[in-house]
Amino acid sequence: MPTESTEYRGKATMEKITSLAKRRGFVFQSSEIYGGQNGAWDYGPLGIELKNRIARAWWKEMTQLHDDIVGLDASILMHPRTWEASGHVENFTDPLVDCKKCKTRFRADQIPPENLAAKKCPDCGGELTDTRKFNLMFKTHIGPTEDGAAVIYLRPETAQGIYVNYKNIIQSNRMKIPFGIAQIGKAFRNEIVTKNFIFRTCEFEQMEMQYFVKPGTDVEWFEEWRGRRWAYYEKLGVKMDSLRWHRHGPDELAHYAKDAYDIEYLFPMGWRELEGVHNRSDYDLTRHTEYSGKDLQYIDQDSSGGSVPRYIPFIIETSAGLTRTLLMILCDAYDEEKVVSGPEGSISGAESSISETTGSISETKGSTDDWRTVLRFHPAIAPITVALLPLMKKDGLAELAQDIRRELKEDFTTDYDQGGAIGRRYRRQDEAGTPFCVTVDYQSKDDNTVTLRFRDSMEQVRVPRTQLAQRLRDEIKAYHRSK
Ligand code: ATP
Repeated sequence: MPTESTEYRGKATMEKITSLAKRRGFVFQSSEIYGGQNGAWDYGPLGIELKNRIARAWWKEMTQLHDDIVGLDASILMHPRTWEASGHVENFTDPLVDCKKCKTRFRADQIPPENLAAKKCPDCGGELTDTRKFNLMFKTHIGPTEDGAAVIYLRPETAQGIYVNYKNIIQSNRMKIPFGIAQIGKAFRNEIVTKNFIFRTCEFEQMEMQYFVKPGTDVEWFEEWRGRRWAYYEKLGVKMDSLRWHRHGPDELAHYAKDAYDIEYLFPMGWRELEGVHNRSDYDLTRHTEYSGKDLQYIDQDSSGGSVPRYIPFIIETSAGLTRTLLMILCDAYDEEKVVSGPEGSISGAESSISETTGSISETKGSTDDWRTVLRFHPAIAPITVALLPLMKKDGLAELAQDIRRELKEDFTTDYDQGGAIGRRYRRQDEAGTPFCVTVDYQSKDDNTVTLRFRDSMEQVRVPRTQLAQRLRDEIKAYHRSK
């Protein structure tokens, strides 16, 4: 039960999200038994299901639904020249200052300018060091020697793996411009400040798509992709008034960018970047041409007229953090709602009693002081799609519920829970974001029907067992978030 005063109820705070994530096995601190590892997190049973589903939804959106986009899985370790060409060795830095007194480390651009000017620590008033550039790439060595020639980096973004494979993909898959390459994978950044749970971490995952276009058509394609990425979040059931665009001003533009917008989400700590949509111009392929000595021009075979035009394509990038999206989805889905017992029996707490003869359980929203925490995930990304709950363990109800679970398993992620009062079990599933519960009761034995209970409305309908799987499929397809 939430302990906050009423006015704060219903709102996602970082504390609530972090504690729910741990309690229910979404996300744990890395190496917690050793005191934890900063900037690293582990995804538990519900977390990995959610992460896989978010990735799957993105992959479907970006590849399956687009004939002109193909996938790639490039390696994390790349030739070190890659990062010279990309500009990361030179430019991928954050300005860093340390407090000499309390030893806290800050990003110089994230502390008040007056503190920076006076070299005064914003936490303790101690003296700050000079600002120095700090490269965010993790540097290590490959092979047994640790000399300069053996230096290798953990990739700080997945994009470069796409650029260095662009020619391979054109040749092997006969791709014609405009076309895109999508990739999901790990990236590593030695972030100075890693607060706010999994928002900014040293090890994270990205979902990136690089779209190669003819120069001169880039502005049009940039707008097209901005529109498509916005529409995607709507489809995912995200609260659209919690999203906004932020255009990069001249000071914010990365060294490669011609134009850049972020999609920002209203996280509990404020508006923050969720995804970037960038017009990267011909910067990357021009640089890789220079550094590799390979001709990365596109040869336009379909071009009419005498000579075959060759050009370095422009690139429109859509770059989202997978783990950051997971945090957004948790915050967005989080809700607390007041519930009262219905006419047939209380559903709140262990004392709840159900009409055992009819097995009827009802819930209504109302005014007594009973709250439920519910994660309103879109059913397509919920970690568990359907939970099977026998009303009683005895009289063959457990066996019947298990039997139905076996039937649904091939097509849905299922859970089974026979422990405790049915109201308690509904609450556990609400908190895990399970959109559908199927309750098996005495009537089920007589007429082969079950109760299908909806997470959001708490409504229940009686469904013949034979129609259950199809009904679930239809409900997932038709899902529309109402609050
Ligand atoms: P920020 O300004 O927040 O550091 P960025 O502009 O450097 O981010 P990009 O390089 O554009 O971010 O990366 C694309 C996406 O990758 C971001 O929108 C974000 O979702 C994700 N991302 C970047 N850095 C991190 C990180 N340290 N931890 C988790 N996700 C990250």
